Amino acid sequence: MKLRSIEHVPIAGKRVLVRVDFNVPMVEDRITDDTRVRAALPTIEHLCAGRAKVVLISHLGRPKGAPSADLSLRPVATLLASLLGRPVTFVPSVVGPEVLDAIGVLPEGGVALLENLRFEPGEEKNDPEFARRLAALADLYVDDAFGAAHRAHASTVGVTAFLPSYAGFLMAEEVSVLARLVDAPPKPFVAILGGAKVSDKIGVVTRLLDKVDTLLIGGGMANTFLLAQGVDVGASLAEAAFVEEARRALDGAAALGVAIILPSDAVVAESIADPGRTVPIGAVGSSAIFDIGPETVTAFSETIREARTVFWNGPMGVFERPAFAEGTRAIAASVAESGAFTVVGGGDSVAAIEQMGLAAKISHISTGGGASLEYVDGRTLPGLAVLVDAPEAE
Ligand code: ADP
Ligand code: MG
Repeated sequence: MKLRSIEHVPIAGKRVLVRVDFNVPMVEDRITDDTRVRAALPTIEHLCAGRAKVVLISHLGRPKGAPSADLSLRPVATLLASLLGRPVTFVPSVVGPEVLDAIGVLPEGGVALLENLRFEPGEEKNDPEFARRLAALADLYVDDAFGAAHRAHASTVGVTAFLPSYAGFLMAEEVSVLARLVDAPPKPFVAILGGAKVSDKIGVVTRLLDKVDTLLIGGGMANTFLLAQGVDVGASLAEAAFVEEARRALDGAAALGVAIILPSDAVVAESIADPGRTVPIGAVGSSAIFDIGPETVTAFSETIREARTVFWNGPMGVFERPAFAEGTRAIAASVAESGAFTVVGGGDSVAAIEQMGLAAKISHISTGGGASLEYVDGRTLPGLAVLVDAPEAE
């Protein structure tokens, strides 16, 4: 896939609207991992050096179309200014006269960050009128938000109907590296899935089955699969509405000869604030599962050791709490020690790898969670499709 690159496009004096993925993990208003912001720097610095007026847009979290004080991008503007070493104007709205005024006074080479796109109901609906208002802010559009490329939203797809559109450097790099997972990956290919967004990700499990040799499932994701096997998961996070789909995935795997390995033990507690204790998977009782247990770590690690390609999305437990971080830490160490081509994607997964100081030992840290999963399962991401040149007419 060849994306239209911003690299040689004349940009001096032009207003350039740049979709970035600044959906950073936060605890209260503290940014716990700056990977996604640092990853966008090459494109931003290129545009500044070329004397463009740089207008950055991003979403943060899921405010569902209305302003929400704790999901403001303002703290990210402060972080970006310190990483760039130049001022960043934060504009507390997404479209409208206030934004046009702020862009009007932006110097060449200047940078502005607009407020959270998802405060506007038109963003996730890909409303053409909202896309047109976004496009009216600029002369050119650059998409560097690989982490949002699996969404057909106004800022990733709609806006490209109104502006000349290009891929940023991060977008191009992600696609070229992740292509190695799709085009004849060295076997055995092991995928590790975890995290909390089960309804978002369960469809991917089914489609991954004809790509991978083994699927290791931990984190909140595993609970729905355990339910499908008739295991009582007590008060654990699980999505009853997706049990049927999990059962179909298990049956599909068996038919294809793909191993799906689920936890055989777990660290459980009554609440997230309590200390954990390890139990066999059949003895969760009325407690909740917050991490995979040591026996599961050993089984997963043995599989990872033999892999030649590893793709990991989603933590193995509530790693934000020391009592439930050991499963994620141990699996991160196994992936880091493996001689395989290793890719880790997802905001929280990458935050875990960074906290554990293991990022340098991973072949590729992807800024996309859902996007990297959907790319690996072979789908055309809507945000990429609009950046590919149409075949030239004869
Ligand atoms: P990513 O951001 O890497 O794509 P997700 O957003 O899907 O991953 O999931 C990350 C979250 O999943 C973390 O905040 C973690 O605490 C949570 N999580 C992992 N395991 C469990 C579990 N057993 N129960 C509840 N939450 C869990
Ligand atoms: Mg997440």
